[in-house]
Amino acid sequence: MKFEDLNLDSTILKAVADQNYTEPTAIQAQAIPLILKNNDVLGCAQTGTGKTAAFALPIIHHLVNEKQNNSKTKVRALVVTPTRELAIQIAENFTAYSKYNGIKNTVIFGGVKQMKQVKRLETGVDVLVATPGRLLDLMGQGYISLKDVGYFVLDEADRMLDMGFIHDIKKILERLPKSRQSLFFSATMPDNILKLSNTILHNPKKIAVHQVSTTAETIQQSIYYTNKHDKNDLLLYILKNKEIDQLLLFSRTKRGADKIVKRLSKQNIKAAAIHGDKSQPQRQKALESFKNNTIRVLVATDIAARGIDIDKLTYVLNYDIPNEPETYVHRIGRCGRAGEQGVSISISEPEENVYAKDIEKLINQKIEEVKNHPFPQTDKPMNAKEKKEFEKEKNRKKQEFFANRKKKRNAAGGNNNRNNRR
Ligand code: AMP
Repeated sequence: MKFEDLNLDSTILKAVADQNYTEPTAIQAQAIPLILKNNDVLGCAQTGTGKTAAFALPIIHHLVNEKQNNSKTKVRALVVTPTRELAIQIAENFTAYSKYNGIKNTVIFGGVKQMKQVKRLETGVDVLVATPGRLLDLMGQGYISLKDVGYFVLDEADRMLDMGFIHDIKKILERLPKSRQSLFFSATMPDNILKLSNTILHNPKKIAVHQVSTTAETIQQSIYYTNKHDKNDLLLYILKNKEIDQLLLFSRTKRGADKIVKRLSKQNIKAAAIHGDKSQPQRQKALESFKNNTIRVLVATDIAARGIDIDKLTYVLNYDIPNEPETYVHRIGRCGRAGEQGVSISISEPEENVYAKDIEKLINQKIEEVKNHPFPQTDKPMNAKEKKEFEKEKNRKKQEFFANRKKKRNAAGGNNNRNNRR
């Protein structure tokens, strides 16, 4: 199939050609005709599949073909997405795809001052891309009205719920016109997501692209089994491979991410971290430095990395093995996008071996083990039962720690009070 077969406005086709897209991806081929025919759509697809263009192109087409009654531009399409990074990327895509037809968009997200965003809104926009919190905030202050929204996209619905946005979404839904076209995308479709989709969509057409098989086809995956204390040295050993020009490294925790950056910097390997404790300008700077090649390693936590779109990213490294196998699929989906070759390298310490097994089950594929390396696993790996015991013991210790701390604090508080009285 070609883009020309999709009956999109010629200004859109021209913009798509400028992006060097030769043919629609699977999700685009399925979604675009349905959206052009005004259907609501329930799409199961993750970032990296070409999902943004799948909804952006037909929405722009509708907007170009709709007559504007009013001279002042109103928000006619609303895209709500969980993270700032995703929001920025979606807006950038809208800008690229509407290059030749003057459909205007803007993006709003929290963590930065609102003034610039408000000013841009006041000039009038057709498409608004937003994260939920800032959207509600600016609606509350009277800067945004949703009464003219004819197209609504809820992006990454599963991640939205994971991040606790359910109440915000419900509030936004209350303010949307009843008569509208709605598109709902999620990487996974558990029951709570389907339930939410039922409250938003009207007779939706369902489409799915199978991320797991895409993963298997385009991404070469390998795993190193090692010990906890050897992880850092193993990372340095892996980075000796000069073919790894740039690497997106995942760390489970923010603190872990900062530590890795410190250690790499000590070895003169340029690195930066992107996570929830970094300010928006810091995150932007890290991402830009990675994109323009001034740093070699970008260290990210899962939520911060969500939606990061880096053209031609080949290497992804899992410094730990995520305990939810879906997270692994999300992580390695950052590389090898839209059919490009990708390489995923994972490091497993004994405790994480069971998680690696879960992942292999989900992707229905054995991840190739790298056997000859200087830091093989010598500590005894745990089986599922031992792992359960271990977690139980860990929780018990944690609770004990907090209980002790509380006791100490109470005792200290008592002293303070006595001091105050004196
Ligand atoms: P997305 O899933 O929307 O984040 O898109 C992933 C990447 O694929 C982005 O870098 C897009 O620019 C790119 N892309 C989207 N559609 C196509 C296409 N039809 N052909 C090639 N690349 C595409």
